[in-house]
Amino acid sequence: MSALATRTGAINLGQGFPDTDGPAAVVEAAVAALRAGHNQYPPGPGIPELRAAVAAHQRRFHGIELDPDGEVLVTTGATEAIAAALLALCEPGDEVVTFEPYYDSYAACIALAGARRRPVTLRPPGFAIDPEALAAAFSPRTRLVLVNSPHNPTGRVFGREELELIAAHCRERDLLAVSDEVYEHLVFDGREHVPLATLPGMAERTLTISSAGKTFSVTGWKIGWACGPRALVAATQTVKQYLTFVSGAPFQHAIAHALTLPDCYFEDFRAGMQAKRDRLCAGLEAAGLEVLRPAGTYFVTADIRAIGERDGRTFCLALPERAGVVAVPTVVFYDDKEAGRSLVRFAFCKRDEVIDEAVARLSRLQG
Ligand code: PMP
Repeated sequence: MSALATRTGAINLGQGFPDTDGPAAVVEAAVAALRAGHNQYPPGPGIPELRAAVAAHQRRFHGIELDPDGEVLVTTGATEAIAAALLALCEPGDEVVTFEPYYDSYAACIALAGARRRPVTLRPPGFAIDPEALAAAFSPRTRLVLVNSPHNPTGRVFGREELELIAAHCRERDLLAVSDEVYEHLVFDGREHVPLATLPGMAERTLTISSAGKTFSVTGWKIGWACGPRALVAATQTVKQYLTFVSGAPFQHAIAHALTLPDCYFEDFRAGMQAKRDRLCAGLEAAGLEVLRPAGTYFVTADIRAIGERDGRTFCLALPERAGVVAVPTVVFYDDKEAGRSLVRFAFCKRDEVIDEAVARLSRLQG
C-alpha cells in the first residue's frame, strides 16, 4: 500500500510510521555514537548500556525486575524478536494460539517455524476476547500463546481480566507466552497497559517483546528487545545469532539514552498521539464512516458499510484514485475473511495538517 501511495501521490495513512522524527536529543545521541566510532559489531546480546536501560525501563514503568545479563536481548526491531522467538520456541507441528486480526509477521513466522496458527477471532465493534473461542483454540499440540496488546490493527487494549483469561490457560496447560508490547506507551484515556508478565505465574513463562521504533518515533532504526526468563532469552538469542548476529551499534547507544528520558517525554508522546487519534476519528466520522475508536496504538479502524461500501479490499484499492488517500483493508490480517470484510485501518501518527488534508479528501466520498 505504501508503494501504491508513492505511485499515485496519495496521502499514506496505510503503513504505521510517523512523519516526524523522534526527539532531537535522541537523534543527536545517534550522531554522537557514529562519530565516537561505535560502528563495528556490537556484542551479540546487545551493548550493556542498552540492556541495563531496558531493564531500568521495565522496572520504572511496569515494576518488572530483570537481570540485564541474560534476561534482556537486543534485536533488530520487534520483528526480529518475534521471528527469533517463534523459531526458537516452536517445533514443527506445534500450534500457536494468537488473535486475529494479527500483525502480519505472526502468520509468516509461525509458518517459517513449521508450526500452525490457531487464531482466536476478535470481532467488531468491541474486538473483545470471546472466552469460549479462546478455550476452543487450545489443543494438546499448543506450544505457546502469542499476544499483542495494545493491539495492531484494532487499537484494542486488553484489560486485566481478559489477560487473566489467557494467563489461566497458560498456567493450566503449562504453555509459554510471547507478548508483543510495542505500543506499550500508546494507551489512551487514562487506561493502563498491563504487561502479561506481571500476572501471577506468568513471569516465568513469558517472553516480552518491545521496540524503540514506536516509542521514540524512529521506526527506521530497527532496535527492539526481548526480555524474560533466562532460558527463553538464551534460546531466542541462539536463533538471532544466525538471523542477524547483532543489531545496529550506533542506534543502540542512542536508544540507551532515549530510555532514560524523563517521564514527561512519555506522557507528552502519549497525549500528542491521543490528540491525533481524536482528530482523525472526528474527521472520519464527519466523512460518514463508522469509527471503532481505539484505546491504544496509532491505528483507527473504520467500518465502511456506513457509506454504502461492503468490501474493504476493493475500497482500499480504489481509494487512491477516488480520494487520494491510502488505507489498509483489515481483512488482510484475518483468516476469517468475513469477520474483517468491511473494516479499514487508518494510521494517525501523522502531522495534523496531513490528517486534516486526508480527512478533507475523504469527506468528498459521500457526495
Ligand atoms: N509488532 C507490532 C504489533 C507492530 O505493529 C510492529 C510494527 N508495525 C512490530 C511488531 C514491528 O516492530 P519493529 O519495527 O520494531 O520491528
